[in-house]
Amino acid sequence: MAPAGRLHVIAGCMSSGKTGELIRLLSRHAVTGHKMLIYKHAVDSRDGAKARSRLGTEMEAVVVADSSGIDGDDCRVIAIEEAQFFDEGLVDVVRTLLREGRLVYITGLAQDFRGEPFGVMPTLMSLADEISLLTAICQKCHGVGTRTQRIIDGEPAPWDSPLILVGGADYYEARCPDCHEVPGRPGA
Ligand SMILES: [Zn+2]
Repeated sequence: MAPAGRLHVIAGCMSSGKTGELIRLLSRHAVTGHKMLIYKHAVDSRDGAKARSRLGTEMEAVVVADSSGIDGDDCRVIAIEEAQFFDEGLVDVVRTLLREGRLVYITGLAQDFRGEPFGVMPTLMSLADEISLLTAICQKCHGVGTRTQRIIDGEPAPWDSPLILVGGADYYEARCPDCHEVPGRPGA
């Protein structure tokens, strides 16, 4: 029987260094000679077909429109960037990759700008063999940033603004829970 795969999820807020950590983890596999492939969603198009970290490190990536574009090819090591952008089908895709004995690395925002569980990330984290939960520096008070603050036209984005805005009138920064602002939160 083929050895079982392994799932390592790298979760955190904006500016927590997820891609840098992914590239660091992947670079360790150089000693094995395993072929690897990084997938990213077309929504996440700022760096084209590259996974690029704030440390300046980068790796080639394959851009896909949805989870059906991920087949792993003949690679032992598979990485998927920004999993929160993907459809529900990503969960089955990842389980198939694991059954095939692959080593799967996933990065993503654990929480959306409202501080709520984001897309398929909670499910993937529950299936993980290992989770790296990264933090950032709060851009307001310089405390420990664990939330992603959305800002539209210089103001904190309201609760009812759309989850994913394509085209970028919005801007994101890391905040601690005390500085995280979501105007219009139900029950607040
Ligand atoms: Zn703060």
